[in-house]
Amino acid sequence: MKKAIGLDLGGTKINGALILEDGLFLKRASTNTRNEGDPSIILRQLAEMIAQLSEGEEVVGAGIGSPGFVDSENGRIMAVGGNIAGWAWTDVKAGLSDLSPLPVVMENDANCAAACEAWLGAGKDLSSFVMLTIGTGLGGAIWLPQLGLWRGSNFRAAELGHSILIPRGRKCTCGQYGCVERYASGTAIEENYFELSGRRIDGTSIVASYDVDEFARQSVDRFARDLGIFLATLRNIIDPEAFIIGGGVIDSRTIWWDTMINEFKNQVNDPSSIEILPAQYGNDAGMLGAASLVFDNPLDR
Ligand SMILES: [Zn+2]
Repeated sequence: MKKAIGLDLGGTKINGALILEDGLFLKRASTNTRNEGDPSIILRQLAEMIAQLSEGEEVVGAGIGSPGFVDSENGRIMAVGGNIAGWAWTDVKAGLSDLSPLPVVMENDANCAAACEAWLGAGKDLSSFVMLTIGTGLGGAIWLPQLGLWRGSNFRAAELGHSILIPRGRKCTCGQYGCVERYASGTAIEENYFELSGRRIDGTSIVASYDVDEFARQSVDRFARDLGIFLATLRNIIDPEAFIIGGGVIDSRTIWWDTMINEFKNQVNDPSSIEILPAQYGNDAGMLGAASLVFDNPLDR
C-alpha cells in the first residue's frame, strides 16, 4: 500500500504524519512553527519534518496544507499568507525542491480539511458540500460533483469567512468591515462577550460558563444565530447537499448547535432537503486531507 506524508502548517504548530493509502497513521511529528517573518526558516522546518517522517520509508510524496491563498497548481502562496508572518508570495514548491527530494503538493488548509471529510468523514457519501472550519477564524471549502475542490479562477474561492454579514460592521483582519468571521468564530464569541460585559475573557471560559453567566449565554447564542443566518446565504448561492461544520469550536457544539439550526430554518426561504453535519475529523483532518491530495493526484507533481 502506498504511503504519503501529510503536513498541516499553522501559525503556532506544524503537525505531520506518515499516512497509508487507507488513512492509517504510521508515524507522527509535531513542532512549534518558527513564525518569525522569515519564510526560509519555515521551509527548512517543513523539509526537516518530511525527512524525519520519510526516513527508511518508501513515500510517494508530501502534501502540505497551509493558511492563506494557495496556488495549488504551482505550489506557492499568493497575496495572503494567513496567520504566518511573511508567508505571502512564498514559492514553497521551488523552495522545498532544494531541500527535499520528495515531490510536494500544496493546498489551502480549509480545503485540506474538506478533502479529508470527502475521503473518510462526513462527506464520504456526498457529491457536493460546503465545509466551514470554525476556530480562531472561519475557513471554508466548496466541494462540487466531479470536480472536487472548487479553487476559483485565482485560488481565492471559498474564503467564506470574508463574506460580509453585517454592512459596516466590525473591522476584519482582511481590511473589510463586517466579515462573517468577526461574528461566527471563536474570536467572535469573545468579542460578543466583551461588547456585552466590558470584560475580555477567552472563548473556552465563556463556553464553560454558558449555564451560569448570562453574558456568556448571550455571546454564544448570538454566534450560533449569526452562523445560522450565514448558512441561509450559502444555501442560496451554492445549494449543496450538505453543510459540514468543523474546527475547534465544534467541540462545544452541544450548547449552540440547535440554536444555529433553528435560526437557519427560521431565516432561509426553504429549509428542506439540506443536511447540516458536524465534521468527523478534528486536528487530524488537515494532515489526512493533504496526504489524500498526494494519493489522488499522481500526475500533479
Ligand atoms: Zn475579512
